[in-house]
Amino acid sequence: MSSEIPINQPVHLKRITLGAALFLLLLALVIGGFMFYRNLLVEDLQHKQTLYRNLVELKGKAAGFEKSRDQSSMDDDATIKVMQFMLDEVLESAVVAGKPDIPGVLIRKRNDRGYFSAANREVFLLALDNSTQKADKELQSALDACVWISNVFVMTVSFLVVVFVLASWRRFYINYTMTLIPLSRLSRKVSLINKNIPESIHDTAEDIRNDLAVTPHSWEISLITDTMVDFCRDIAAKNKKLDELYIRDEKTNLYNYRHFKEHLIMEIERSKRLDDKVSIAMIDIDHFKLYNDENGHVAGDQVLEQLAGIIGTTCRTSDMPSRFGGEEFAVLFPRTGIDTAMQISDRLRMIISAEPVAHEKKQPGGRLTVSIGIATFPDDAQDWYTLVNNADRALYHAKSVGRNNVCAFSAIKSGDEGK
Ligand code: GH3
Ligand code: MG
Ligand code: MG
Repeated sequence: MSSEIPINQPVHLKRITLGAALFLLLLALVIGGFMFYRNLLVEDLQHKQTLYRNLVELKGKAAGFEKSRDQSSMDDDATIKVMQFMLDEVLESAVVAGKPDIPGVLIRKRNDRGYFSAANREVFLLALDNSTQKADKELQSALDACVWISNVFVMTVSFLVVVFVLASWRRFYINYTMTLIPLSRLSRKVSLINKNIPESIHDTAEDIRNDLAVTPHSWEISLITDTMVDFCRDIAAKNKKLDELYIRDEKTNLYNYRHFKEHLIMEIERSKRLDDKVSIAMIDIDHFKLYNDENGHVAGDQVLEQLAGIIGTTCRTSDMPSRFGGEEFAVLFPRTGIDTAMQISDRLRMIISAEPVAHEKKQPGGRLTVSIGIATFPDDAQDWYTLVNNADRALYHAKSVGRNNVCAFSAIKSGDEGK
């Protein structure tokens, strides 16, 4: 009965783990790519800054000469060497910055000493201005590129974080609605079952499953519910078996004395209320000790089973055939008077007497027979205990008049009264 529980990893847990891993990978790629590209831009910016600074320093130097209006200081060898050295620096930084054309004419005139003379000062300063403006422009665009990449980075990371937060919220919401809410409903119902185990535990579990079916719920909840329903089904089946064991006689599978007595008491109470009748028959196998002695107890048990089968099938479905104990049977006839009880009992006696039974030839008369005593409520007794006793008395009367007989208590009572 118990069902196999699949021990799979929940699918969505795998998805969550995979999703989180992909997100982290994407974030790492974005950050790594950004750092790499930003480093390139910053390096470019630094080179252009150096170029611009070199040009500005050169310009400062030249402006210093202009201020002094000292022609000799502008034309002397040392000054020209300084200018040439600074120009070399400008050229070098322009090449490193990837803009070798920015110094332009200044480089071409580097070895032209006259170019640095006071007479050419204006032209020199103009060329210097021109290069400085170009370098400034390059510096600005490098700066803009740095700002741009930072903005793109912030926006991308913000976007990813928003996506992550939304996905997490969605996952939380799904968990909340599909797991936590159904789980709390389920646990409430389960605790109700535990408090008061219902008549039909399996139906109750099915009710819970039907109740959950209209609520969205997760795979785990389905698993728990199915397991619970299976568990309840097992309990219900075992309870049914226990119930059967409780009311059945193990050897004959007829109802046992306990069940007979409970129903007899109930039937008497019902008859009292409805002013009705209820009859019982006590059936005893004739000379059964002899049968056992001759054929052994195993054969005797088989006879008990055989007779139980005949009694069970001969009685009406409303009657209750039971094993009273030993080789005695009792039948409860609800809502039945003495006449019908006598008819059914006599038919039963005749069927048993006619039925072939193993080794019966060794029995007195060559047949296995039963004797039956009958009593009816309320005519023969006012309570169950006296009713059983009086049916017993009728049975022993049936024995005493030769066995293979049915005798009503009313008959021996009137006989006694007649004495
Ligand atoms: P009577 O016709 O007067 O009823 O005679 P009897 O031999 O049937 O009655 P007695 O009370 O002397 O013996 C009853 C016998 O029933 C004795 C016992 O061995 C047998 N018996 C009782 N219960 C069982 C059972 O469960 N299995 C078997 N095989 N025999 C049983
Ligand atoms: Mg007996
Ligand atoms: Mg007997």
